[in-house]
Amino acid sequence: MPQSPYDNLLAGVRTELYIGGAWRPAADGARLDVTDPATEATITSVASACVEDAMAAVDAAAAAGPAWAAKKPRERGEILRKAHEIMLREGERLARLMTLENGKSLSDSRAEVAYAAEFFRWNAEEAVRNIGQVSVAPSSGARIVVQHKPSGVAVLVTPWNFPAAMATRKIGPALAAGCTVVLKPASETPLTALALVPILEEAGVPAGVVNVIPSRRSGAVVGGMLKDLRVRVISFTGSTEVGQKLIHAAAENVVKPVMELGGNAPFIVFDDADLDAAVEGALIAKMRNMGEACTSANRFYVHEAVHDAFVEKFAARMKGLKLGNGLEDGVAVGPLVNAETRDKVAELVDDAVAKGAKLVTGGKAVAGAGYFFPATVLTGVPDDARLLREEIFGPVAPIQTFRDEDEIVAKANATEYGLVAYLFTRDLSRGLRVSERLEFGMVGLNRGLVSDPAAPFGGVKQSGLGREGGHEGLMDFLETQYVSVTW
Ligand code: NAP
Ligand code: MG
Repeated sequence: MPQSPYDNLLAGVRTELYIGGAWRPAADGARLDVTDPATEATITSVASACVEDAMAAVDAAAAAGPAWAAKKPRERGEILRKAHEIMLREGERLARLMTLENGKSLSDSRAEVAYAAEFFRWNAEEAVRNIGQVSVAPSSGARIVVQHKPSGVAVLVTPWNFPAAMATRKIGPALAAGCTVVLKPASETPLTALALVPILEEAGVPAGVVNVIPSRRSGAVVGGMLKDLRVRVISFTGSTEVGQKLIHAAAENVVKPVMELGGNAPFIVFDDADLDAAVEGALIAKMRNMGEACTSANRFYVHEAVHDAFVEKFAARMKGLKLGNGLEDGVAVGPLVNAETRDKVAELVDDAVAKGAKLVTGGKAVAGAGYFFPATVLTGVPDDARLLREEIFGPVAPIQTFRDEDEIVAKANATEYGLVAYLFTRDLSRGLRVSERLEFGMVGLNRGLVSDPAAPFGGVKQSGLGREGGHEGLMDFLETQYVSVTW
């Protein structure tokens, strides 16, 4: 076999389906190609599950369920804690693999591995805090005994933008709760999910508790699993469009939907903000993952008194970000994940410029191999520009000005999304007052990053249902049972 430049990075990564603790090809032999977005070369291929494979995975998860649920919480917690340690030990290898298939810079991948591993540690600690309640019924005097039991088999569907963290953010609480799972990772980035398998095995996760089935036939495969009465939770992260389809599918058997969907985050800078802090926050909120994040700042609103100063500092920093293959040292802007994503970003920028926006830096896709688009800043963006309403999912910052609080609150809320908003002000009472008026599940107040395994992540309106992380993340994989007792 000729040496491939990818061999080193792929060492030890199995490319079959992982079902019931064993690796196997798809029942019909199908495979899907994985592409390096920096070069457009094919890295390798992985097995692509069909409905029959998905049903085998549900069988395996259902068979493993009772023994896993019966384990003592401390035993489940210890396994998750070990998974955290092993994942960090394997961190550099995982980070490189993730950059290879997703394109994000190595520093973004390293940060993601640490964040992703933390979902194992946090949930190791949550596993032992599944706390119930006993009370006295006010009228009858009966005792009300409340406990939370594992929901059952959970189907987990994850996107390509955080290939490690979106998987661990679901696997962690599901396993802590005592559920068993079938994970279907995104077709663009199946390798990172497959690379988690040996880590979970080494940590002591029994066969069948976690099953991983990449598939190009997502609709059929996930739809098939949702028809099986043993599946009790569908936890999905991805687009609002697919989330809506899954909520419909889940309705048939009344499966619990946990949905982390799209966003359209406003980034608000008041006239009293610490401008240097606002610029740092803007760089993180915009450029983490090259803007390929549901939490990415999508619309910048800067008070007219500080607009020019903010734009000058922010654009200089954006211009200075090094673009290139994410695997190279010092690169901050890797390629976008695929041609479709890059072309949509280019189209949104062209639309804004045609409607009168001014290009301060960036603006055009890079010619040649790889799906590169440079860090871009636009000012004077008109209200009818598409990129103020649609998710950009790329390194583009459209900036508008504003004058007063009521105006900016109305503008920020004028979207069907409600995931996260960012605001910068030195006046904390204003910060909290405005935060409360914002119709978003999360607010970054003087911060450009809100994601934290210890906090409830999630959105309102069309950004989702349920929360991941914090204590709430565990509760989504538990059913409450109440026993009425005469003592
Ligand atoms: P996507 O197209 O919705 O895909 C997400 C996952 O769903 C992938 O595994 C995909 O598989 C699968 N899928 C696609 N069609 C399906 C169907 N009909 N039934 C069942 N599963 C299906 O989203 P994406 O393109 O990967 O990611 C970008 C979107 O995700 C953005 O809108 C972003 O805002 C959102 N996102 C949200 C969060 C959050 O926490 N709120 C986090 C990250 C991303 P294939 O890859 O095989 O198509
Ligand atoms: Mg997709």
